[in-house]
Amino acid sequence: KAKEQGKSQISRFELTMNDTVQKRVALERDLRHAISYGELEMFYQPQLDLRAGALCGFEALIRWRMADGRIISPLDFIPVAEESGLIRDVDRYVINCVFQQVAAWLAAGYDPGEVAINISTYSLQEHDIVAYISDTLNRHHVPAARIKLEVTEGLLMKNVDTAQRIMNDLKAVGLKWSIDDFGTGYSALSYLRKYPFDQLKIDRSFVEDVHLNLENASVTRAIISMAHSLGIAVIAEGVETAEQLGFLLQAGCSQIQGYYYSPPLPANSCVQLLADDGVLSLPAISIKRNQR
Ligand code: C2E
Ligand code: MG
Ligand code: MG
Ligand code: MG
Repeated sequence: KAKEQGKSQISRFELTMNDTVQKRVALERDLRHAISYGELEMFYQPQLDLRAGALCGFEALIRWRMADGRIISPLDFIPVAEESGLIRDVDRYVINCVFQQVAAWLAAGYDPGEVAINISTYSLQEHDIVAYISDTLNRHHVPAARIKLEVTEGLLMKNVDTAQRIMNDLKAVGLKWSIDDFGTGYSALSYLRKYPFDQLKIDRSFVEDVHLNLENASVTRAIISMAHSLGIAVIAEGVETAEQLGFLLQAGCSQIQGYYYSPPLPANSCVQLLADDGVLSLPAISIKRNQR
């Protein structure tokens, strides 16, 4: 009886495996279709400069809008794209799409500040990415200084030489670099010295309870002062409340991004914001009142 039970467990396990593999394969096929049939779309999340109290840029975030209207999160398909090699096409699609959008905003007389693009660390292993990016900049007449590239530490550690070369080459072209989700992985001081980062993004997990958790509060303060002493700008991601903002202001953080200022917006909705110079009807820049 035990044997039979074991057997049925195994086959259930195999079934689940099969199911997962089949879902993977289907997702990969659909993603390939999405890339060629324009189902991928960029949203833009505004970033707020705390000193100027105004919009200073956007982060471009990809969305997959399926034919039936469902929207799939990048958290669900970027990993599949990375495993299947499709990430090369996704990243290049994003680069092209965002440069085109920035060019359109500039041509219409708007100032979008600096626009950040998330680049998979896989793309940092492809030598022709430098040519691809500079050609695409030229084609759309976008000044390189308008574009910031965000990477997580992922593969940086493994192929230091290649990543360094590509990052330095693109920096020489005039693009900026930001290290995303800082504090979550192995990222340490050495990363900030080894690679030409202009900006560091404090991960949302620190920001979440920064005003309540003493440990996160001191780590956040330490990250900010370390970055500043290296001449690296700091932005906090995932800022949702006035309390979080209050803490970050006090800690000397210069920029924020998060639902408190604005969620990611479709490109059309950004135009109103750009027309108003990024001034949103913020619930409170009367932050002091909300501070504990
Ligand atoms: P990320 O680069 O760290 O992006 C920040 C994520 O936090 C975004 O999720 C954004 O919508 C979300 N977010 C922004 N403000 C808040 C907030 O106040 N509270 C909370 N809870 N969340 C907030 P999203 O758009 O689902 O993207 C998830 C991840 O997928 C990104 O993390 C990035 O690693 C990746 N990704 C997104 N777009 C692209 C892309 O175009 N190319 C590549 N290669 N990866 C992308
Ligand atoms: Mg990012
Ligand atoms: Mg991030
Ligand atoms: Mg993140």
